[in-house]
Amino acid sequence: MALNVTREFASDASADLLSTVRDICDSELVPRAAEAEETGTFPRDVFRTLGAAGLLGLPFLERYGGGGLPLHDYLQIVEELTAAWATVGLGVSVHTLSCFPLAGYGSEAQRERWLPTMLGGSTLGAYCLSEEGAGSDAAALTTRGEAADDGYRVNGVKSWISHGGVADYYVAMIRTTDDGPKGISCVLLDADTNGLYAREPERKLGFSASPTAQVVFDDVFVTSDRLIGSEGQGFSIALAALDSGRLGMAACAVGIAQAALDLAVSYAHERVQFGRPIVEFQGLSFLLADMATEIAAARALYLAAARKRDRAETFSTDAAMAKLFATDMAMKVTTDAVQVLGGAGYVKDHPAERYFREAKALQIVEGTNQIQRLVIGRALKPHS
Ligand SMILES: Cc1cc2nc3c(=O)[nH]c(=O)nc-3n(C[C@H](O)[C@H](O)[C@H](O)COP(=O)(O)OP(=O)(O)OC[C@H]3O[C@@H](n4cnc5c(N)ncnc54)[C@H](O)[C@@H]3O)c2cc1C
Repeated sequence: MALNVTREFASDASADLLSTVRDICDSELVPRAAEAEETGTFPRDVFRTLGAAGLLGLPFLERYGGGGLPLHDYLQIVEELTAAWATVGLGVSVHTLSCFPLAGYGSEAQRERWLPTMLGGSTLGAYCLSEEGAGSDAAALTTRGEAADDGYRVNGVKSWISHGGVADYYVAMIRTTDDGPKGISCVLLDADTNGLYAREPERKLGFSASPTAQVVFDDVFVTSDRLIGSEGQGFSIALAALDSGRLGMAACAVGIAQAALDLAVSYAHERVQFGRPIVEFQGLSFLLADMATEIAAARALYLAAARKRDRAETFSTDAAMAKLFATDMAMKVTTDAVQVLGGAGYVKDHPAERYFREAKALQIVEGTNQIQRLVIGRALKPHS
């Protein structure tokens, strides 16, 4: 069932794409989501379908095999996919995050060599920044790349890696010198590189179908032609990718919240108590009104940030605000959706409880909401 949202796109191509996306959502995502989340089954075939439909490289240049869409439009597609099945929307956003470093900082030769495959839809990527001792303080990472024979010998363990174990390639931030954030470099590795492997996926509160795992680098040799950007530039590349990635998380949050609202509205019209549909009780309709308003505000915030990025303006603070507001909003809206369904919201017969569990993750990933507040707070300066 299509989301109850009227879309405004910057490009005409996106409007055509929307009907394809909604068809895939209706036929392949919505019917499978609940069972796959219950059994923890990663839908690799769904990503092949999305790839074949050109949906795994949307915001990148067409000459490298991308869709050539503005971020503003791509994010609304992510929102639609997430509303249908959050593991899939999140997966598209994570894959896109893994493409940003090469697209933005790779040499022409590197882009021509790897980007068409990464954007073409047959492969899936992972983005490796976090470690056990380096979460919010990501610059404290210790996975070490020692210079050796025109490359690096890499040893260490990355933690919490989405698509760990199912990705075809990994973009990883590794420490090449002891110079703090300036000692971090970005490398691109194939999943079948010797010494690179993923541990068993974490057992999570939600997103069970999306594997999150530690990725081990056991004396992995990375040739220097796989260094993205210059040595020591890795941390700024990681942060720049996260600026756009955070807008992906905001779009995911709005998608989950919209799905929760649509469910709650339908239920409130059908459920009868005291002789009338519960939506006729003002106490309940005010709850729904607040949910709808907060969703609209969060959508407007991420789209405004995306338009800045599409105009090549600075947008880091706007991205942090959108991620913070949208994911806190999704937590509140999904909590209220459970309330609207009453007991039915607390059991697995309806997806309300799943939306609630999924919303929680988005307040943590790609920089917790405390870290977003830190980013926003630092940008506040007195008016001159
Ligand atoms: C489902 C899932 C998927 C993920 N996918 C990826 C991925 O694909 N790639 C990847 O690299 N990482 C990934 N992560 C990791 C994620 O980015 C980190 O979990 C996140 O950055 C927080 O790090 P941490 O878990 O170590 O928490 P910590 O940094 O230990 O934080 C613990 C608490 O302290 C707070 N805190 C920390 N520092 C401050 C401060 N200065 N001021 C105020 N509060 C503070 C935090 O906000 C948090 O509430 C994923 C995580 C999850 C849960």
